[in-house]
Amino acid sequence: MKATVYVGIGANLNNPTEQVHKALSKLSKLTKSRLIAQSSLYRTPPMGPQAQDDFINAVAKLETWLAPIELLDELQAIENAQGRVRKNDRWGPRTIDLDLLLYGNQVIETTRLSVPHYGMKERAFVLVPLAEIAPGLILPDNSPLIELVKYIDIQGIQQL
Ligand code: ATP
Ligand code: MG
Ligand code: MG
Repeated sequence: MKATVYVGIGANLNNPTEQVHKALSKLSKLTKSRLIAQSSLYRTPPMGPQAQDDFINAVAKLETWLAPIELLDELQAIENAQGRVRKNDRWGPRTIDLDLLLYGNQVIETTRLSVPHYGMKERAFVLVPLAEIAPGLILPDNSPLIELVKYIDIQGIQQL
């Protein structure tokens, strides 16, 4: 069955702007899927360890016939192709991070996949680009996206 999904994109290594554009281009060619919208790019301060470069973030909206786990496989294949090295330092520098934020209205809790993405409601670098392309969005727990955006700290986030 077809689903509307949102993918959060982030990069802060090896020309992050180019990495985000590359990822968007790959998403536009994704199998069994169609890229519907992409947000602007945003420059955002790093979450967690501060001794790293700013991030470039964006959000993409797709229609897909891929199952959630198949989509995760595709996202991880793109990360690997762009030289993502998985280290133990969570939230450390990376060439590209593709997180599945929402898969339709589904709530998924498996070992490999947790949807909606567990951090999205607290992360301005996710909510701001998401609100740009989906201002009327209601999350599976019935929270309206615009309400969440009202109360987060958007300081330091710069639309490019
Ligand atoms: P964070 O998840 O806090 O944004 P991160 O994106 O850097 O941190 P990753 O190293 O990219 O974390 O992913 C770690 C694992 O998270 C992946 O191997 C994947 O199986 C799992 N995961 C669970 N839910 C999701 C999701 N919604 N999107 C992407 N990966 C997910
Ligand atoms: Mg992430
Ligand atoms: Mg990730």
